[in-house]
Amino acid sequence: MSTRAPKKATKVFVAGHRGLVGSAIARRLEYEGGYEVVTRTRQELDLLDQAATHAFLAEQKFDLVIVAAAKVGGIRANSEYPADFISQNLAIESNLIWGSHLADVPALLFLGSSCVYPRETAQPIPEEALLSGKLEPTNAPYAVAKIAGIYLCDSITKQFGRRYFTAMPPNVYGPNDNFDLKTSHVLPALIRKFHEALPDRPVTVWGSGKPKREFLHSDDVADALLFLIEHPEASGLINVGTGTSVTIRQLAETIQSVVGHTGPIEWDSSMPDGFPEKTMDVTKLHGLGWRHRIELDQGIQLAYDWYREHVAER
Ligand code: GDP
Repeated sequence: MSTRAPKKATKVFVAGHRGLVGSAIARRLEYEGGYEVVTRTRQELDLLDQAATHAFLAEQKFDLVIVAAAKVGGIRANSEYPADFISQNLAIESNLIWGSHLADVPALLFLGSSCVYPRETAQPIPEEALLSGKLEPTNAPYAVAKIAGIYLCDSITKQFGRRYFTAMPPNVYGPNDNFDLKTSHVLPALIRKFHEALPDRPVTVWGSGKPKREFLHSDDVADALLFLIEHPEASGLINVGTGTSVTIRQLAETIQSVVGHTGPIEWDSSMPDGFPEKTMDVTKLHGLGWRHRIELDQGIQLAYDWYREHVAER
């Protein structure tokens, strides 16, 4: 008989497990084994409610908290509901991050976003670019809330010696994406627009087509997050991406060919372009030893298959 006690599973709370990144990391941790994954629906635990969130964290005694819960949306939703974006994100972050500290949770992984970097900055964007210039106005309120979360993690790490750190993904896509044309990001929006259009009819895409964006499949994000969790030398702020980007025009044409649409693309210049470019420098991540696996064309095919199976009505 072995005298060695079996290793206790790491008890982890995945906040936001129904979202794009949260669902991917919850799936991945379950598959991996060695993790006891705890989730709560919005009905079971309202993360905007400080007292309820702090009480839950104090009672559960987690080894790790992953903050994938956030109020998120594309360029249009951010412009129309700036107050919701800043206030809800500040509340969710403060309740979860500070609440985890109060509950003596030793480690926490916070999800930032590449859109918190300055609008005008070197491309690809290194982690050091944070707060080195003005924010992109179309999502500044969201970015300010995320920057507050980054500093809250850093400050708790400095003052209390915990391991609270931030991963910065680019534009993420994959299962459980939001396909609502008013609030979604560009990739799911275009899958839906090309799918719903008759094959030879025009499809309208916003802006000039010139902005560049970096895309990462949520299964790659989850793989990277697990990698970072299991590498204690990962700390502070870490860009999690591919380090490459495509123009919105290239993205639209790729989605068009995956969906099999042959009509014209019309550009709606009344809609904003937002950031001219958002490509992250992933030297730090590559130095730690992680690289993405799912290339964009393959990922778009996976996302389209998921959309047809779970969302499309015809
Ligand atoms: P961003 O990365 O924060 O700017 O967010 P989005 O994913 O919403 O938008 C990325 C770029 O795609 C912007 O330049 C948009 O104008 C452009 N875009 C083109 N068509 C669409 C669309 O149908 N929906 C969205 N959300 N963006 C679009």
